[in-house]
Amino acid sequence: MRLIPPGARDTSRMLDGSNVCGQGCPGSGAGGLREEGRRGETWGMRSLWRVSVVLGVLMTMGWVQAADRTVLLVAGRPSHPPGMHEFRAGMLLFEKCLGQVPGLKVRVASNGWPTRVEGDKRVDDEAAFEGVDAVVIYADGGGGHPAIQGNRVALFDRLAKQGVGLGFAHYGVEVPKGDPGEAMHRWVGGYYEHQFSVNPMWKPEFVTLPGHPVTRGVKPFATHDEWYFNMRWVPGEKGVTPILVATPTDKVRKGPYVHPAGPYDHIVGSSGRSETMMWVHERDDGGRGFGFTGGHTHGNWSDPNQRKVLLNAVLWIAKVNIPTNGVESDVSDADLAANLDPKKR
Ligand SMILES: [Zn+2]
Repeated sequence: MRLIPPGARDTSRMLDGSNVCGQGCPGSGAGGLREEGRRGETWGMRSLWRVSVVLGVLMTMGWVQAADRTVLLVAGRPSHPPGMHEFRAGMLLFEKCLGQVPGLKVRVASNGWPTRVEGDKRVDDEAAFEGVDAVVIYADGGGGHPAIQGNRVALFDRLAKQGVGLGFAHYGVEVPKGDPGEAMHRWVGGYYEHQFSVNPMWKPEFVTLPGHPVTRGVKPFATHDEWYFNMRWVPGEKGVTPILVATPTDKVRKGPYVHPAGPYDHIVGSSGRSETMMWVHERDDGGRGFGFTGGHTHGNWSDPNQRKVLLNAVLWIAKVNIPTNGVESDVSDADLAANLDPKKR
């Protein structure tokens, strides 16, 4: 049952426990109900408040479902050998895992961008972004990054301004420095900069997880993957909260990296320093984002903790309540083998 119309964003924020009450919200101080009452409250305002209280009580009792929230997962084009950069299979797996989250709608766009047929050809479908609460891109990045083609930076800036959450996974955290890098700074506070960041294959041990909604139910884990590190952050890492952190050994720092092989002096010279492989970001306007640098190897989504921290992050940027134990999901071997891109072996 849905009694609250789509777009009732403040209600969902209340459910998430963040940004519960801005100025002017009942009980928030000078702008609260009592003050309003003294100023000459109208019948309509009193009725609205009573309806809100009743709905709030019903929601607390679990009788009313939150307003629907919608997430758009954009999967990149086929890339790399089988089992690697399986963006479409990954996104469809996430869609399945998120299927039981109350009030959440998940859509998946394949081949790097939502499209529609116009006449006898396929064209970009910007309408697919209307009404979404979060967009996640899991795709090849660099100069071909889906979000920086044509006028799409302006589109994402508009989405961000509307409060839409933005998330980027694996190669999708890399864009060229300059304007695209600055766009990533606006959206998620950091990005992979070519020859400043590195992409070794290694197995970080995520032993200590910070207290954050995104880590709910996530236990320490380690997966061997192409975990990028040394992102280019916004000055002062403003708004950035590290989520997956580990310390690379000197051997990892010396490379080889996947491309170019390295080593880079500035990476080797930071021996002993902990590095961030996943982060979340809060923009000044309250919008949210995340970056997740793993995800090269599709089979690693079988790890329940790697999966959970990613799924939790999708909910978080969409401002959907994250369950106490995080997003629970079961993934079978058949699930993992489903939807793989047809590739030459
Ligand atoms: Zn990769």
